[in-house]
Amino acid sequence: MARYRGSVCRLCRRENMKLFLKGDRCYSDKCGFDRRGYPPGQHGQRRGKHSDYGVQLREKQKVRRIYGVSEKQFSLMFDKADRQKGITGTNLLANLERRLDNVVYRLGFANSRTQGRHFVKHNHFLVNGKKLNIPSYCVKKDDVIEVRDKSKKVQIIADSLNAVVRRGMPQWISLDKEKMKGIISGLPVREDIQMPIQEQLIVELYSK
Ligand code: SF4
Repeated sequence: MARYRGSVCRLCRRENMKLFLKGDRCYSDKCGFDRRGYPPGQHGQRRGKHSDYGVQLREKQKVRRIYGVSEKQFSLMFDKADRQKGITGTNLLANLERRLDNVVYRLGFANSRTQGRHFVKHNHFLVNGKKLNIPSYCVKKDDVIEVRDKSKKVQIIADSLNAVVRRGMPQWISLDKEKMKGIISGLPVREDIQMPIQEQLIVELYSK
């Protein structure tokens, strides 16, 4: 699977907003977007308006980059959301929120979704008591996600937990900080997703 290996701050500048892809750095004065809040590239500061298609495309790219999923995965997730009951755009965002790497980030076990994905792949977590290393796993209500005993000593996970206060935690998950254990107490609804996203534009893009 092709992976983007360039500067992630460049992605924020391309989408013209902070996507919070770098953990603590995003909240510091080293944030690349705060320093240079215009699109990257030689003509970045001179770019004009987007067409309707361009606006829809940028919205899709923005969401894909926030959650760190590939083009193909995103397209498959859209198909799944389209088949589900309810509003396709809302289903899509809810499914993205339910990815295990995102949940690990939301619980504060990682500083970013990218880091969450690495931690999941490196077997740091149990889901319902069993080892699970699939970042795209879609959590269900009442699932229990906990840090494995031997991983509780990993300093970077403990440090992330201390920093989660700044981000806040959505209502659909609850955390037992002492036991390093999270419970999916509900499912995400649209209001739980605070980033400025216009999912309808993504639906329009894929409906062409
Ligand atoms: Fe984006 Fe700033 Fe974080 Fe870089 S530091 S990923 S520009 S929010």
